[in-house]
Amino acid sequence: MSDCIFCKIIAGQLPSKKIYEDDEILAFLDINPVTPVHFLVIPKKHIKSLMDLSAEDSALVGRLMFKAQELAKQQGCEEKGGRFIINAKSDGGQTVDHLHIHFLGGIALGASLLQTCLHTGKRE
Ligand code: 5GP
Ligand code: ZN
Repeated sequence: MSDCIFCKIIAGQLPSKKIYEDDEILAFLDINPVTPVHFLVIPKKHIKSLMDLSAEDSALVGRLMFKAQELAKQQGCEEKGGRFIINAKSDGGQTVDHLHIHFLGGIALGASLLQTCLHTGKRE
């Protein structure tokens, strides 16, 4: 999609700090990290959100999730883990309409992030 920020990153029209790339998947650091480790894993295919999948995308989504946990381990979060987040559509707080998995790690989040989300709708 020509007006999609993440499609532009995939096409190399916008810069990003890539941590992984193959023919189907790109992973890069979030431009506005909210934790010490914060990266995004996206399909190269433009899928608007998790709620816009077709049945044929299910294997790709499985690969995205598998790659996200592999990269989380590579980024030093194997022992303590972190949080995998997929925001979907307006009530989910999705701001970029290209499916992406966030990984947040490097700090103990406990339940506080979820509680903040519920009370304020903000990620911080
Ligand atoms: P959402 O709120 O849609 O789940 O998350 C979108 C994420 O994309 C945000 O965390 C935001 O910081 C990140 N983001 C938006 N534009 C860019 C960009 O141009 N480059 C990178 N690396 N991240 C971006
Ligand atoms: Zn896109």
